[in-house]
Amino acid sequence: MFELKVITDFAAAHQLDLTGRKCENLHGHNWKIEVLARGKKLDKSGVLLDFGIIKQNLKNVINRLDHKFLNELQLFTKEIPPSSENIARYIGLEMEKLLNKEKTEATISKVTAWESDNAAASWINSAA
Ligand SMILES: [Zn+2]
Repeated sequence: MFELKVITDFAAAHQLDLTGRKCENLHGHNWKIEVLARGKKLDKSGVLLDFGIIKQNLKNVINRLDHKFLNELQLFTKEIPPSSENIARYIGLEMEKLLNKEKTEATISKVTAWESDNAAASWINSAA
């Protein structure tokens, strides 16, 4: 099994309904995003998946979030608020969709969203 990791970041604002907590106020983060892709087979070039393909697809997904007020996006709802957990899941599911279009056996196995240097939430693809 092989695993690739790509790291990127974006800045955005959100507001979470955690009564009496600081997060209830509108605030922003510089999220650091780690995307892991996994697979067993390497192609003829000896790679699981071209890093360029992951990076380009990730850039397209991140552009939907970067410098936005996340609560106002259609991607999130009252039931699925823009927490770091839901951001990680959104990126993971979108990346998985995009990777399915590429000729690769690699799947997205995990996405971690760091909202600060010492706090992160991960979405783990139980199917990977
Ligand atoms: Zn926050």
